[in-house]
Amino acid sequence: MDTLDQGFIAEVRNVGYHPFVMMRFGSYPLASAHYFICPTQNDAGGFVHALNAEPVFSESLLLRGIERALQQEIYDAAELLFRWVKGEGTVAEMVYGGLDETTDLYYHAGYPAFEFCGGSAATSPRDRAAILASAQQAYIDAAGNDALRCLLIEALGLALSRAFGGMGDYAAAAHAVKIGLEKRPYSIYLKSADHALTQQREGTAVTPRLAKFIGEDDGHLKPFVCPEPFSRFDIGPSGDVLVCCGHWLPTSIGNFQKESVPDILNSPAALKIRQSVTDGTYKYCNHLECGAMTQGTLPRYEELRDARARKAIETGDHHVDGIENVMFAFDQSCNLSCPSCRQELIIERASKSEEKARAVEQKLLPLLPKIKILNLNPAGELFASKPSRKLLELINDERCPDLLIDIISNGTLFSEAEWNKFPGIHKKIRSIRISVDAAHKGTFEKLRRLGQYETFVSNMGFLSRLRSQGTIPELKFSFTYQRDNFLEMEDFVNFCDEMNCDYVIFERLQNLGAFSADEYRSRAVHYRDHALYEDFIDVIRHPIFRRISVWHDFDYDGVTNMGREEALGRALGTSYVGSA
Ligand code: SF4
Repeated sequence: MDTLDQGFIAEVRNVGYHPFVMMRFGSYPLASAHYFICPTQNDAGGFVHALNAEPVFSESLLLRGIERALQQEIYDAAELLFRWVKGEGTVAEMVYGGLDETTDLYYHAGYPAFEFCGGSAATSPRDRAAILASAQQAYIDAAGNDALRCLLIEALGLALSRAFGGMGDYAAAAHAVKIGLEKRPYSIYLKSADHALTQQREGTAVTPRLAKFIGEDDGHLKPFVCPEPFSRFDIGPSGDVLVCCGHWLPTSIGNFQKESVPDILNSPAALKIRQSVTDGTYKYCNHLECGAMTQGTLPRYEELRDARARKAIETGDHHVDGIENVMFAFDQSCNLSCPSCRQELIIERASKSEEKARAVEQKLLPLLPKIKILNLNPAGELFASKPSRKLLELINDERCPDLLIDIISNGTLFSEAEWNKFPGIHKKIRSIRISVDAAHKGTFEKLRRLGQYETFVSNMGFLSRLRSQGTIPELKFSFTYQRDNFLEMEDFVNFCDEMNCDYVIFERLQNLGAFSADEYRSRAVHYRDHALYEDFIDVIRHPIFRRISVWHDFDYDGVTNMGREEALGRALGTSYVGSA
């Protein structure tokens, strides 16, 4: 990457500080060259709007790649930058960064600068990849404008993973991903790339859906259509609405407290997500951890039962006309503080809880007569949450004739006395899922911090009776396997049998923000480099995990994976959606 020339340096001096993005159209020192400046990340909105009007915009892959990253469209940004490296563009483009030895620029902050239609252009894919790698390093070494700067680092990391991976230079790809993950540790794209590169390095087969993160997209997901974004309306703790589990598809389609429900339902973000699960890109989805992908239960177009998704494919119109499926995760309040979920107890302030309870009455109550599935509350504990309790109070047969409820709870407050406070839901339960993570008292009270095992077991006895009476049609217990509990997995299946449980669900530990990166890796036994990995594999080889009532996300070498037919067979006819 060439150092900043006198044209860019003069712009820095004119502005009075180093602007976040500098672009030049034309050659320095020609008078016809003009500059586009984005002083700080707060000015990015107006900046990208103006960029779109540049005549060269539609032709320049580099320019559009940067623009997409500034618009937080990481997958698209990386795709454009990857194509630029390959040499598909027609515009002369160059990136500059750093200062030569003779220049003294007090304001220099280290951001790279871009030139379009100028006098220089990198000539080979290798050169272009090296230039982008220098730009990624420059953004890492720079300071300030952190939110968008880190998005640029992430986009460049993914582009370089694909570019270097496509050239067979997996070490360079891994470096770009590694330094990207240091700035964006939860990136769904970089985690997928990292996993694929690890498989490549270890000589195991790269999971087909992940191959595009380290090279070309071979269209592996094109035959599949995920129906989730056509039916789901998940209200999160901040009011942000998602169309799938937030760990798998974190892009919001609007805010329940700030916008009207019809505006959210068919917002630009909602339409583009639905488009992405029909065009095979799945560009907003976590390819590494999505349950439907790991278990192979994504339907092919010809297997698709969702009428709205079918219509979207046939007509190209991705609007939907109402809400039938609500995930209510509007409140994180919980009586426990489990280490895998949070670092401390979270109970929302009374004023905030009341505001949310009012939003439930004003915005959800009118929708209740048409909602068919309500899932609550995966973000916290429903019996410890005022908005959740308000919602439970509003449900009855007259108001919600077609409603079925899926409950997720930690079980420690699920007593007969609490159940009897909400008679309107008694005939409406479709399933109850209890997250447990232990088979014995010591482990339970360690991983269910503030929980008391004897109370929990007594409550489970009550649920077991409701299950045998048929009041609960489906009872499921889940277990997030990790260092401190994996030796109890077999005992857990036996405990579930005793409790009349229909399905046992095993899921790998994810870092939801409660752990540092090191702490997470020390607990996550499912990684091959974990000291207990082989012990873990020995545990999950047991035939008990092949039972039809046992669900899991095991896709590890050394165990027999579920075939797609088996996984699909398990999914049909149950309320299991595999959500984290
Ligand atoms: S993350 Fe998985 S389940 Fe969610 S929309 Fe994407 S493919 Fe579907």
